[in-house]
Amino acid sequence: VQPNSRTQSLASRLSPNSLARERSVLASWVRADTGGPVYSAIRNAFIDQFSLLYLVLTEGTGSLPEAMRPEYIQLDKDCTTLIGLLLSRSDAWAARDWRKPPILKFLFRRGKTGRPLTRLGIAAQVKELKLADPERWTWPALTAQFCDCGEKQHQISCQDNLRREVLHLEKLLERCGYAV
Ligand SMILES: [Zn+2]
Repeated sequence: VQPNSRTQSLASRLSPNSLARERSVLASWVRADTGGPVYSAIRNAFIDQFSLLYLVLTEGTGSLPEAMRPEYIQLDKDCTTLIGLLLSRSDAWAARDWRKPPILKFLFRRGKTGRPLTRLGIAAQVKELKLADPERWTWPALTAQFCDCGEKQHQISCQDNLRREVLHLEKLLERCGYAV
């Protein structure tokens, strides 16, 4: 676990045993052996952040102090984004029986309300390629491969949009303690 301030301040209100238990439930449901370092960062961030959110909501000791509200709101948003990223990958989920532990039921209820995250999902693929082979995957090459504007000639704004989405993903992972 790479600690970050949000994880520490919210986790300090919860039992370390409960956190370890929920983390291991999630870890057994999300495959570790698919994709590269970006996928791993998304997976690790999800396991940390979602077990935290689940326990704050189910076993948090009373209501959160006002000072922690902004952290909680950001945690909630980040969880929705991370869930969208994982749910959009059919190879992310281990085939398990359907007697789901409570945290999984909670997860799939949330997942149903989440929007599909096509653009951020593409950003994850882009970042993965860039890390694997930066000389081949320049921004113009990535734009030609992934931009969905439909034009034959991509504009500089196409490249900017792609870079912005990758930056958005990088910031999310950094916030969760898993910078790539
Ligand atoms: Zn384009």
